[in-house]
Amino acid sequence: MNLVLFGPPGAGKGTQAARLAEKYGLAHLSTGDMLRAAVASGSELGRRVAAIMERGELVPDDIVVRLIEERIEQPDCAKGFILDGFPRTLAQAEALDRMLEAHGRRIDAVIEIAVDDDRLIDRIRRRIAESGGARSDDNEETLEKRLEVYHRQTAPLLPYYRRRGVLHSVDGMRSIEEVTAEIDRVLEGLR
Ligand code: AMP
Repeated sequence: MNLVLFGPPGAGKGTQAARLAEKYGLAHLSTGDMLRAAVASGSELGRRVAAIMERGELVPDDIVVRLIEERIEQPDCAKGFILDGFPRTLAQAEALDRMLEAHGRRIDAVIEIAVDDDRLIDRIRRRIAESGGARSDDNEETLEKRLEVYHRQTAPLLPYYRRRGVLHSVDGMRSIEEVTAEIDRVLEGLR
């Protein structure tokens, strides 16, 4: 089973992806985590993307497509994977389709975790307070930028996946447990 968790920053994609990975034995692939690891390691890639991430903008498509392409060929992805934070642009979605097709694989479901902007801003404010600013892109200006980027560049993927008949939406304004239960029901329906 290959899944995409879709939604704006702060929707809870990372939390839900980690739970699903554990429950279904899937690999959890977060481009945000991969890029943060590159920044922390001080690699050339990390140096290229650090400032872009700090501004809340998207790093170039070719960089994230390459990260995902290398990652899904690893043995732990053979049983399936959950993409968290990828694809974020139409070009990334098309590249993903092409690379999966080349391996005779496909995306089985795209699960949108839908949350209002007002609620997201509240959540991120709380995350900033709790983490003491552990993530350098968790501040209000960057969040506003990330939301704007989500609406402008990423949300247009929803009709792309709806047309393919793989899009499912869950209500992300409910508790973590309730959202997990709703996603479980969607996945049960796929079996
Ligand atoms: P995230 O943890 O998924 O919110 O990602 C944090 C930051 O990493 C984003 O604000 C972007 O700067 C960058 N990033 C993560 N995934 C992607 C992607 N698929 N395309 C472009 N930039 C990304």
